[in-house]
Amino acid sequence: AANSDLIRATLFPGDGIGPEIAESVKQVFRVADVPIEWEEHFVGTEVDPRTQSFLTWESLESVRRNKVGLKGPMATPIGKGHRSLNLTLRKELNLYANVRPCYSLPGYKTKYDDVDLITIRENTEGEYSGLEHQVVRGVVESLKIITRQASLRVAEYAFHYAKTHGRERVSAIHKANIMQKTDGLFLKCCREVAEKYPEIKYEEVVIDNCCMMLVKNPALFDVLVMPNLYGDIISDLCAGLIGGLGLTPSCNIGEGGIALAEAVHGSAPDIAGQNLANPTALLLSAVTMLRHLDLHDKADRIQDAVLKTIAEGKYRTGDLGGKSTTSDFTQAICDHI
Ligand code: NAD
Repeated sequence: AANSDLIRATLFPGDGIGPEIAESVKQVFRVADVPIEWEEHFVGTEVDPRTQSFLTWESLESVRRNKVGLKGPMATPIGKGHRSLNLTLRKELNLYANVRPCYSLPGYKTKYDDVDLITIRENTEGEYSGLEHQVVRGVVESLKIITRQASLRVAEYAFHYAKTHGRERVSAIHKANIMQKTDGLFLKCCREVAEKYPEIKYEEVVIDNCCMMLVKNPALFDVLVMPNLYGDIISDLCAGLIGGLGLTPSCNIGEGGIALAEAVHGSAPDIAGQNLANPTALLLSAVTMLRHLDLHDKADRIQDAVLKTIAEGKYRTGDLGGKSTTSDFTQAICDHI
């Protein structure tokens, strides 16, 4: 029913385990009384000529209109003549920053128990610009594109995030000693933005040193901002510090204030439809969406309930060494709310 107090958000349940974990999010949101009305969209069965993808134009319009959404994992259909689903979303919605909060889950033992950092990855250029060609046989070239516009945009987002989330420090991760022009420009843009945020500490860390520091003592970091390729690698490294991709939330930020939250794991076809999937990553992604909407009370309640349920250890899914089904685990979270 239409209710003007409700915020409309687009929901892509996605493929494989997607619908099961999306159901879990819907249930938890109902119990926590979150003022969100979901507008569900599914990936089409044929290519939409307007998007050259299995994603329909209507579903992209839904995100553009609502400016906020949650996405389950999508399996890109094999075959020629269409764009990958994730690429279509990134390009069409101009999703320029990928944000991954990464914190130790109390009670879920890993080698580290004091991780609390945020990786912010530039998501549109760098080595991922798709500009590769053969020069002559046996020699290929790949172009790394860094622009002032995209670098300033992601740096601005990182500092804004730090300021609005009570964070103290932003570290720019780079290899400007070798990639002098490209990473050099990226750093220059970070420095420019840093000057506008004197209350946030700013530092620059070379990527190789950053890897060593993260593995030795992740507590050394707060917010990290970096170009595309480094962000791809470092964000997965950080997910590994806290127990893997099944637990890691993420949120994509696009032009005009769009936020599309998504779990970073795939559609897990091996366990799909069996009520075995762990909904934690999608739930915590939904929490990042709530924070983007400044619904911090609801976000805290849901996050606390998820963490409590995992910490108690009574209900855990198979990937965390437990025997619970998706629905039992979800019910336990709802009971905590
Ligand atoms: P995957 O993440 O789907 O699975 C890897 C392993 O992790 C599997 O054993 C799976 O059972 C397990 N796993 C993943 N998420 C889980 C969860 N929530 N709970 C419990 N176990 C979980 O990776 P894959 O097998 O390489 O990819 C499968 C499909 O997903 C492919 O079609 C791929 O293209 C797609 N994919 C989509 C996204 C996305 O939409 N963002 C990301 C990665 C992969």
